Amino acid sequence: MAPRGAPYLDELNPAQRQAVEALDGPVLMLAGAGTGKTKALTTRIVHLLNTGRARPNEILAVTFTNKAAREMKDRVGRLLGQQIEGMPWLGTFHSICVKLLRRHAELVGLKTNFTILDTDDQLRLLKQLVQAASIDDKRWPARMLLGIIDQWKNRCWTPDKVPAGEAGAYNNRGVELYAQYQARLKELNAVDFGDLLVHVVTIFQTHDDVLEQYRRWFRYILVDEYQDTNVAQYMWLRLLAGGHRNICCVGDDDQSIYGWRGAEVGNILRFEKDFPGAQVVRLEQNYRSTPHILAAASGVIRGNEGRLGKELWTEAQEGEKVRLIGHWDGEEEARWIGEEIESMQQGTRGMRPFGLDEIAILVRASHQMRAFEDRFLTIGLPYRVIGGPRFYERMEIRDAMAYFRVVISPEDDLAFERIVNTPKRGLGDKAQQTIQRTARENGVNLVEGARIAVGEKRLTGKGAAQLSFLVDNIARWGRMAGDRDVDHTELAGLILDESGYTEMWQNDKTPEAPGRLENLKELVNHLEEFENLQGFLEHVSLVMDNESDDGGQKVSIMTLHAAKGLEFPAVFLPGWEDGLFPSQRSMDESGLKGVEEERRLAYVGITRAEELCTISFAGNRRVFGQWQSQMPSRFIDELPEAHVEVLTPPGLYGGGYGAAGASGIETRVAEANVYNSPGWKRLQARRDHRPVGQPAETRHAVIDSQAISAHTVGERVFHQKFGYGRIEAIEGDKLEIAFEKAGVKKVVAKFVMGADD
Ligand code: ATP
Ligand code: MG
Repeated sequence: MAPRGAPYLDELNPAQRQAVEALDGPVLMLAGAGTGKTKALTTRIVHLLNTGRARPNEILAVTFTNKAAREMKDRVGRLLGQQIEGMPWLGTFHSICVKLLRRHAELVGLKTNFTILDTDDQLRLLKQLVQAASIDDKRWPARMLLGIIDQWKNRCWTPDKVPAGEAGAYNNRGVELYAQYQARLKELNAVDFGDLLVHVVTIFQTHDDVLEQYRRWFRYILVDEYQDTNVAQYMWLRLLAGGHRNICCVGDDDQSIYGWRGAEVGNILRFEKDFPGAQVVRLEQNYRSTPHILAAASGVIRGNEGRLGKELWTEAQEGEKVRLIGHWDGEEEARWIGEEIESMQQGTRGMRPFGLDEIAILVRASHQMRAFEDRFLTIGLPYRVIGGPRFYERMEIRDAMAYFRVVISPEDDLAFERIVNTPKRGLGDKAQQTIQRTARENGVNLVEGARIAVGEKRLTGKGAAQLSFLVDNIARWGRMAGDRDVDHTELAGLILDESGYTEMWQNDKTPEAPGRLENLKELVNHLEEFENLQGFLEHVSLVMDNESDDGGQKVSIMTLHAAKGLEFPAVFLPGWEDGLFPSQRSMDESGLKGVEEERRLAYVGITRAEELCTISFAGNRRVFGQWQSQMPSRFIDELPEAHVEVLTPPGLYGGGYGAAGASGIETRVAEANVYNSPGWKRLQARRDHRPVGQPAETRHAVIDSQAISAHTVGERVFHQKFGYGRIEAIEGDKLEIAFEKAGVKKVVAKFVMGADD
């Protein structure tokens, strides 16, 4: 029976309740997708709070993305029926470690105002070191070193802990450069992402008092997506949970998809060994997907060896089969999906209408997004891209942030290097070298070095005057940033104006300049949401999944990796072609293991879908500007036939809009590739066995081709949903119709029939 005032427990099944109510001691929830692991974890937090076991600040809860953290916080508030006073320690590993490290930075030789470098900064720094070490960076690119160092940090190896077996890395110089890199970071008062964890683990390992303090502090620890923790994260958790052992981890070995980033699915399998007496809870009922979707996902993941193996069942209605469709190229695939989404909004093929918010497109590689973004922009279909390079990666934004960084932390040499001659201040390479040299000789940062170089007249002329002006400004802005009476948003605008940065773009005549100025404005606007500049900079270095939102309904586009833990009523999975998915890289680099990780990614993808899952592939794809013919993914073979319906692309059988954009030869080549591929032949065979009476694809093709020519402006028509109206304008296959009851609306032509006047 639920304790009084715990209605949230009634929403759970018995296994979930067990995991929620076992508040003390180690608990592992190991279960397949959509079985309510995250729900149970969230409810556990609510239960801890509701039973008075812990206050919000005594709970350490780790999620995989910031978005997931926000959602969890919201849900806790809702279930508890009251707004909680923040949960300061609910976040990602990285966001939590930033906070911890700020409190104890001095223990690893940093100051509290350290900066967090991104990949670009890291690379720039490593390039300098590689050059200084006279290493041929064509043969030994700095990027490679970056990858090696990241992997070492994932394993929590500081330079002195890199095992002998790894010493040969990077032409025998890897460890030495790693040590130099760490020393340089310290000088810069900076850390990279990997350091956030490594430093905190180091502090815990070397300062018992600090560790003890946090063990007392974090009375309960909860971890979602445990299968994707790396060794450093695992060590961190083990250290913190080592005292009271009140740790609850949830995960799914079949969804481990970050092996390439050092995640070790072994962590989940070791849990019972590390925490003897752990309660292990297994969940088998899936609450997310229809039986067809579940069966398709299970069929694919069955191809992996060494699984723990789990059976999933659901009470959901049977619903639609997983839909499979081949296209002749990637553009056609994007076009079809765009059209399909438009139709789905109205309800198509006998299905209910879907809102745009209910639809997601999950791609294997972010470069696939471009085709969809282009297409959706063309047809005016609202979409949002979740994760990946966007706003904050733009040049003007990075410049502006470099200004903010150097103002907040003058030790940030990389930021200073970025802005010292942007806008142009007459400080060329030679002048910058003089600044570097002066700084080195005096053992100071570049800002200080610049001041000395000017003072000692090592630099003269117009450049020197401008530099001196900049250096004074940085100091002044820094004082303002520390002044509580100065509004940080205004300060940010002031910095961009007084530095001449805004003016630089105002004077710029390239077509991009106006957009850049808008972005800068947007940046300053966005600052208002933060307490100060430092908080904002921290936020930017941590957000992987920010989205600018105008509140309207949008289709979501994201990578399969970013989709982990999420769910959508309708999911499109495009690009299921060997080489793209599974990716060539995973096959080349890790062989069978790589393909298995890709297969788990396929499982993650299919299991995001609640009602409708559509998988597609193209016969041709342009890869880095070159046309390549593609083979359907091996994972398509693994889809169990009984749960799949094959649709025919309108472009292939001469009908529909598909053939319109391509030259005859291109079409033939593309069709030949699709038709002749074993995958297509297989699909063809399946299609022919389809039960009669489901002519979905032919209907689709025929109606499409008619729609465009079938109507004229002024014609009276009938629409299934909006009734009678008169066509006011025709745009491709979209009609603007003044409906007699529903007003003026844009609708897709295929849902419109001619009506008598
Ligand atoms: P994933 O492995 O994909 O992260 P998960 O195991 O974390 O999945 P949740 O996201 O927690 O699964 O739950 C999936 C869906 O099922 C959610 O919509 C959730 O609200 C719902 N759900 C979970 N448990 C129950 C339950 N006992 N009764 C009804 N619905 C539930
Ligand atoms: Mg989950």
